[in-house]
Amino acid sequence: MSLLIYLDGAYVPKEKALISVYDHGYLYGDGVFEGIRAYGGRIFKLTEHLERLYEGAHHIMLSIPINPEEMAAATLETMRRNKLNDAYIRIVVSRGPGDLGLDPRKCSRATVVIIADKISLFPQEYYEQGLAVITAATRQRSSDTMEPRIKSLNYLNNILVKLEATHAGVMEAIMLNSQGYVVEGSGSNVFIVNNKGELITPPAFLGILEGITRNTVIALAGAEGIPVREGIFTRHDLYTARECFLTGTAAEIIPVISIDRRSVGAGIPGPLTRKLMDRFHDYIRREGAPVYPHQ
Ligand code: PMP
Repeated sequence: MSLLIYLDGAYVPKEKALISVYDHGYLYGDGVFEGIRAYGGRIFKLTEHLERLYEGAHHIMLSIPINPEEMAAATLETMRRNKLNDAYIRIVVSRGPGDLGLDPRKCSRATVVIIADKISLFPQEYYEQGLAVITAATRQRSSDTMEPRIKSLNYLNNILVKLEATHAGVMEAIMLNSQGYVVEGSGSNVFIVNNKGELITPPAFLGILEGITRNTVIALAGAEGIPVREGIFTRHDLYTARECFLTGTAAEIIPVISIDRRSVGAGIPGPLTRKLMDRFHDYIRREGAPVYPHQ
């Protein structure tokens, strides 16, 4: 049976889930999206993801034709229609079909798509052995251009970063902003543990996507009594970190063991990283909006 996709209120087979080439999401990257995970029949942090989606839409003055409650219901229903328990869910809201000009007023109704499928970002061995990464030459865009806090359909900057990683023979790259401060990965947030045992991640205002996994990790670390703070740091702090890891909905928590060929700590996933990975895995099994009754 073909996967069923939510498209503007209907559940249609994947092959028939088609949108107009005049949609400004396609023509201009005009829209917002979310990547969400479901574990064991529960959608993880659904409310937080929808909050970010609607905030991004508000910023770009994109009116989403259904409200957050209806979006949540449609997301749960997409899971049920596909009989899924574990899934990667992609919600895409684009400006909708318009004409060939930029003017969003020509787009009368936003297009809403919900896909519930699978994703595997990094092979399992990297979660055990850790990841080698580079710092990218491509810098983060500044907040006075395309605000990085909006999860917009405009991911070209991130794709350039990913290309750099691929060309360097590694799976991920870390971006700096124009001032040289560490911001985030191509599709992940970054944490380091410094020589005082503090867990540090860049603050949202520096120009990052304020990751939901990031915020979960901050809360879990706090609950464990691990000193954690948002702070600005440079490549030197990355190179001299005791531990480093990346977080994201698709990536979850993945250890980093080398950066620009400098080993991080002992060159193996550190104890704090492993502890947080364990806590995170416990937590995702407990938390989340149940897809099926009695879950
Ligand atoms: N930064 C960027 C640029 C991303 O695309 C993502 C993935 N959505 C993240 C960070 C991590 O965010 P989250 O934990 O909400 O998935």
